[in-house]
Amino acid sequence: MKKILCLLILFLLFFTSCTKKEVKTQIDEIIERDVLTVGVKTDSKPFGFIDPVTGENDGFDIDVAKYIAKDILGSERKIKFVSVNPNTRIEAITSGQVDMVIATMSITPQRKFLIDFSLPYYLAGQTALVKENSNIHTFADLKHKTTIVLLGSTSEQNIRRIIPTAKLVGYKNYKEAFEAFKQGKADAISTDDTILSGFLMDNQGYRILKNKISHEPYAIGIKINEEDKSLKKNLDVIITRMSKDGTIKALKKKWNLK
Ligand code: GLU
Repeated sequence: MKKILCLLILFLLFFTSCTKKEVKTQIDEIIERDVLTVGVKTDSKPFGFIDPVTGENDGFDIDVAKYIAKDILGSERKIKFVSVNPNTRIEAITSGQVDMVIATMSITPQRKFLIDFSLPYYLAGQTALVKENSNIHTFADLKHKTTIVLLGSTSEQNIRRIIPTAKLVGYKNYKEAFEAFKQGKADAISTDDTILSGFLMDNQGYRILKNKISHEPYAIGIKINEEDKSLKKNLDVIITRMSKDGTIKALKKKWNLK
């Protein structure tokens, strides 16, 4: 009887140790795969864009992704970039298409119901771009004017709330939105100061309004996982280090940001 009991205990111990080993954390999975999949912008200079000379992904967010890949996988080249837009980035996370999204994405209470966020790594703010000779100088001047916004962005929601009489035209990506604005299809385009100043880097004859109507804290979006916080914890440690060791400051300087 004793022998059987001993064998049973041994078997149980062996079984539980085996099942424990099989539980892989999100970080274990990334390390095993040896590549990080990151959703990034390809049309939002200077945060995420395609370098016209090299044809490679480049920008502030790309540099953040490379720092993270170096930290987790030992090489900044171990990344597969996936192009996302404001209206596709949450699904890219929840469907598991990407491990994370680093794409000028602001933390908001509504988004927190759908995805998890790292600590913020940059603070932007919403403003608007108009033609240099436009008679629009403040957000109040946008009343009854046509304004381009990005579908699924905080900019769309903020402007709907603050200037309900503004006529909004929605676009799915910044390439089409800026193209339409250049063609004179609207009086203004409203989004984060970061993206608008990126447009001004390559285009003349436009100006950005002086006032901002929101705080846009950029953070890395990941899947909600109540049992496994390994990825969130890792990202928070990395972002805290990037802020403390001067990396974020250096990236702001590199990409001409305040
Ligand atoms: N940061 C804002 C957002 O998360 C606007 C910029 C963007 O959509 O990329 O919605």
